Amino acid sequence: MDECRFTLHQIEGYIATLYLLEYRDKVLLLDGGARRDAARVKIFFEQVLHRPLSDLKLMLVSHMHPDHAGGAPLLRRRSAIPIAAHYEIDRWYRGVSGAVQHIVDTVLGHYSARQQFGKLERAWYPRRLKPDFLLHDQDLLPLFSDWAAYQTPGHTLYDMVFYHPQEKLLYVGDLIIRVGDKIVLPFPTLFPELMTASLRHMAELPVRKLLLAHGGIIEVDASSSFFTDLLPQVGRCDYRSFRMIKPLCSLAPDVRSYRKSRINQD
Ligand SMILES: [Zn+2]
Repeated sequence: MDECRFTLHQIEGYIATLYLLEYRDKVLLLDGGARRDAARVKIFFEQVLHRPLSDLKLMLVSHMHPDHAGGAPLLRRRSAIPIAAHYEIDRWYRGVSGAVQHIVDTVLGHYSARQQFGKLERAWYPRRLKPDFLLHDQDLLPLFSDWAAYQTPGHTLYDMVFYHPQEKLLYVGDLIIRVGDKIVLPFPTLFPELMTASLRHMAELPVRKLLLAHGGIIEVDASSSFFTDLLPQVGRCDYRSFRMIKPLCSLAPDVRSYRKSRINQD
């Protein structure tokens, strides 16, 4: 079991929190952060871990938004560190409407950083991730087989979360976020039915600790109904400003075909 022992570190990124799992002989990065977070990771290795960046053996990307998929490609280009992500993640921003959505999301990312933290950093990033390892639901991670990937569509179609069963530790990406003292579903939740299924799926996992990209670490009672308690939030949006910009977040081809299929069903 020694090879499963790790120390958990947090890095505050441009918009999201990144997590590093430091093992004796290797390090795993939970989510790639925004473009400039690549430099934050490098500095953390030099100044806090006192280890070479070459010890970083794998980077995970939970979904294609700019605060999650911006930093990893830069680190890979400079230091040849491989990326693992959903096997279809590069479909998210495909085509002309996907390219437009990618631009809109990058601008909205800036807006959110400015509003929340008063920061403005360069955040442009490639709209195709080209992962080195393609992950399917419940795959064990390459080089870190004590971790498993789970598909959790809802926020986008290709979201993944990462689970460590021995420690009952779950990195949730943007499946849920913390706003003030409240746990809420992310904006946007583009696929409500799939979000419901994802929350039910996560409710089946014994979880002791949640790592949030937006909101830090939460300890949970393993027997609690944490995820199912969030089900009434699905399809609800309490913030008027979010409702107003929702059409701007619905341009990706998968959202348009999902909407069309729902209209045809009605
Ligand atoms: Zn997101």
